[in-house]
Amino acid sequence: MNSKYVDAHCHMEDKAFNKNRDEIIERSKKQNVEIITSGASLGGCLRALDLKDKYNIYITLGYHPSKVRADDKVVNKVYNIIKANKNKILGVGEIGMDIKDENYERQEKIFKKFLSLAEEINKPIVVHARGFEKKIFEITKNRVDVMFHCYGGDVDLAKEIGKEGHLISISTLVCFSEHHKELVKRLDLEFLTTETDSPYLSPIRGVKNEPANVKLVVKEIAKIKEEEEEEVKKTIYKNTCKFFGTRI
Ligand SMILES: [Zn+2]
Repeated sequence: MNSKYVDAHCHMEDKAFNKNRDEIIERSKKQNVEIITSGASLGGCLRALDLKDKYNIYITLGYHPSKVRADDKVVNKVYNIIKANKNKILGVGEIGMDIKDENYERQEKIFKKFLSLAEEINKPIVVHARGFEKKIFEITKNRVDVMFHCYGGDVDLAKEIGKEGHLISISTLVCFSEHHKELVKRLDLEFLTTETDSPYLSPIRGVKNEPANVKLVVKEIAKIKEEEEEEVKKTIYKNTCKFFGTRI
């Protein structure tokens, strides 16, 4: 199996890329990086769908917990878009909960709505679970497969998550965060995938993040694990294809 680098979570639909999206996607393709972009708002989901066809990239569609203030009409529109496009997506997400946002009760309600949809259309989910890693792990138990995007929780919980067959996604933060390095050190490679969360979480100060930087994540994992980069790349690719139930 020919392996590729995988950016399992980024936002190519973000308006931050309006000026140079062509160039950035071309650069990632040249470097053998497969992109999975995650719609996270009503506009973002519509743009992600356009990009999928235009650039032949993979997408997931969801609704970000930070959008908790929007009214039900917007949430329902996103819900219906996901349902109508279930054959075009790898999974449901970015969905989840964030401790730094308000109204946890409503965040949970919205999260559970999309979780039920994922079950109904038989897709895994991509979650943003800052501060709610344990809660999300418990809510989703025995329901769907979960990729914890940019996981920042503790190591013991991450081990439990991995043993359940879920994925811990290591982002470009690993280039400078001791906590993320520690996670990589103590977790089986089989539990991991890689992402950039572009345009966020740049490993290079003052420069927007982009999917090609996922190579830096693989490099850092290889260094920490004292493995060949090629081996890490292969395993991450295999883990990610298995998780989404398709070869990407
Ligand atoms: Zn994201």
